[in-house]
Amino acid sequence: MENNLHSLHGSEDLRDVPARRVRRVRHEIRQRDVEVARISPVGASFISITFRGEALRDFVSASFDDHVKFTFNDPAGELVRRDYTPRHFDRDALELTMEFVRHSDGKASEWARQAAVGQRAVIAGPRGSMIVPPDYDWHLLAGDVTAFPAIRRRLEELPDSTRAIVVAMAEDAADRCQFASSADVKVHWVASPEELIATLCAVQLPPGEGFAWGAGEASLMARMREILLTEKNLAKESVRIAAYWRRGASNYHERLE
Ligand SMILES: Cc1cc2nc3c(=O)[nH]c(=O)nc-3n(C[C@H](O)[C@H](O)[C@H](O)COP(=O)(O)OP(=O)(O)OC[C@H]3O[C@@H](n4cnc5c(N)ncnc54)[C@H](O)[C@@H]3O)c2cc1C
Repeated sequence: MENNLHSLHGSEDLRDVPARRVRRVRHEIRQRDVEVARISPVGASFISITFRGEALRDFVSASFDDHVKFTFNDPAGELVRRDYTPRHFDRDALELTMEFVRHSDGKASEWARQAAVGQRAVIAGPRGSMIVPPDYDWHLLAGDVTAFPAIRRRLEELPDSTRAIVVAMAEDAADRCQFASSADVKVHWVASPEELIATLCAVQLPPGEGFAWGAGEASLMARMREILLTEKNLAKESVRIAAYWRRGASNYHERLE
């Protein structure tokens, strides 16, 4: 087990990563009991929930691409598990923040809507991390709202010497948040899957070696991957696309590698 990357944020971790070699690390999976410490809305569609617990003392999330299994009981008492991105971890406060999209029809979305301070849940993982070195000539980050927590985290982590292009799909304009970053970032906001695909086709990727990361609804991600590999001629090793959900399916996750 390689478990030596300590904090979510902080360029120290990123500087430790060898140049331009995507690295995978595995972590021991632990179930951690946590309770809701704070809740705040983010944009129109997100609820940011901060969990606190002594069990988070040895929590590790080494990459913006990580996910944990968020585990809770639904109103009928059934155990439900869903994947969420560790958005921010404060080791001193033992607080982990995640951002939940409020959509119309899901148990995790519903849990987030009714969450209250003091409510208990369990967080398992992350089981592994894919660490993308920051020193590519450019980074492309694209996806729908479910990708925003990872994109927000990545942009905060990238050092100021880096260049990033973001193609972000927010059907509700109120989700067009400020992306904080010290990197050189160009954001293309789009409002529909068609616009996302058209923008991706039109975007001029800078010269040099880059890495493209994307996440969102399965059918959109399949189209996106096709464009990156065929029209943009990116090597498979420089592309990481994940289906974070699929229309009509529950608890769906697929790596389109
Ligand atoms: C690695 C990974 C990281 C993720 N990180 C985040 C994150 O940080 N924040 C976040 O909000 N989501 C994230 N997701 C997506 C989230 O896990 C899914 O949206 C999940 O399906 C939500 O569970 P649910 O119980 O609300 O709905 P489910 O029971 O899974 O699905 C019920 C119905 O709702 C639909 N549905 C599911 N998600 C959405 C959606 N976002 N919009 C519209 N309809 C939907 C499904 O198609 C299905 O018809 C991540 C997924 C993965 C795989």
